[in-house]
Amino acid sequence: MYALLSSGQYYVLNPMLVNKAYKYELDPNNHQRSSLQHHAGVARFAYNWGLEQRIKLYKTNQGNDRFTDAMKQHKLLNSLKKSQYPWMYHCSKCAPQEALRDLHQAFKNFYRGLKTGKHIGFPRFKRKSVNDSFRLTGTIRFEGRRIQLPRIGKIRIKEQRLSYYRGRILSVTVSRRASKWFVSVTVEEEIEDPKPISGHAVGVDLGIKTLATLSDGTIFPNPRALGRRIAKLRKLSRSLSRKQKGSKNREKAKLRLARMHLKIFNVRHDTLHKLTTYLAKSHSRIVIEDLCVSGMMKNRRLARAIADVGMFEFRRQLEYKCTWYGSELHVAPRTFPSSKRCSVCGHKKKELSLSEREYNCEECGLRVDRDLNAALNLVAVSLPETQNARGEDVRRYRQSSEISIMQTSVKQEPNIDQGL
Ligand SMILES: [Zn+2]
Repeated sequence: MYALLSSGQYYVLNPMLVNKAYKYELDPNNHQRSSLQHHAGVARFAYNWGLEQRIKLYKTNQGNDRFTDAMKQHKLLNSLKKSQYPWMYHCSKCAPQEALRDLHQAFKNFYRGLKTGKHIGFPRFKRKSVNDSFRLTGTIRFEGRRIQLPRIGKIRIKEQRLSYYRGRILSVTVSRRASKWFVSVTVEEEIEDPKPISGHAVGVDLGIKTLATLSDGTIFPNPRALGRRIAKLRKLSRSLSRKQKGSKNREKAKLRLARMHLKIFNVRHDTLHKLTTYLAKSHSRIVIEDLCVSGMMKNRRLARAIADVGMFEFRRQLEYKCTWYGSELHVAPRTFPSSKRCSVCGHKKKELSLSEREYNCEECGLRVDRDLNAALNLVAVSLPETQNARGEDVRRYRQSSEISIMQTSVKQEPNIDQGL
């Protein structure tokens, strides 16, 4: 059993058989470019057509006739193709089929949300040029630096060296971001049974000022490139808002802004991969917080900063990397007061504002960096009381006052993740 995560590139089938995705930038010629655009258009059309039909059925019919599924919808759409939508013949039949499958999944998620009380929005109509993408299955293979796609043909790949992969190609998702086309190839791979890692347990506190603080005192700062680009992003979006609607200059400004978004996304992704690989490869157990991100997003000032740190992405990467490398991932319960609790004496503060960067304990006099205190609390969750030796670690760090800083040295123009 497995689930395809719409945002995710990896998902675990069982401990030995994993699906990995390899993403490359395509270098299509003009003919291929328009074919890609056409496929994305057909996929979007099928999705919107399917959504409209589902809404209509629900409103007009009774009982079970109010519902349909991806297969029924695909049959119906095929029967209409000849008379009403002949332009769909120029494109692989997979594109509309997979779009209808995605729609079915979106409805399943929505209904599950209603049952469990989680808020998952009603499927929305897709807009033109917003997240253009489509998925293909069937005969897909690499030929040197080209990838063969059904109906579209062989497209050159921009990367010089392709990442090595074994296993069977399941599908490809082609997507456009800021006038660039990417292909993400999902492969089913068998991985070796990982041997348990003998390293220490580590608590990780994800922050806003710093990317992550580890309970052993290691700090991962946010990459500087990110801050610089965010400043640039602001400038670009201001410049866009001044351009006249419908003008050529506005289109240009729009593209520049989209490119900057893409760069920021790449930097963030790259940094998180380095952090999660380091954690999963060299620690027997990793303890993280179960952050209620959606709750924190309501605070608008914090929202951007949190989104930048990419908490969801962090946990997602850790989950599959721990499976790969044989480490354990512990998630502390949501109610665990990791920031407010003193890591030496266990005293719990009633209030701790976000601006307080240092934890001062009024019970035992502990003064320690706020994030380090949280990380120490987290690692203590997973250790038995005897091994915990409350406070030992903190005292050691305070004496040495030596906190190592891990540089995540981000390349200037990192590639989209290549199956790290
Ligand atoms: Zn204390």
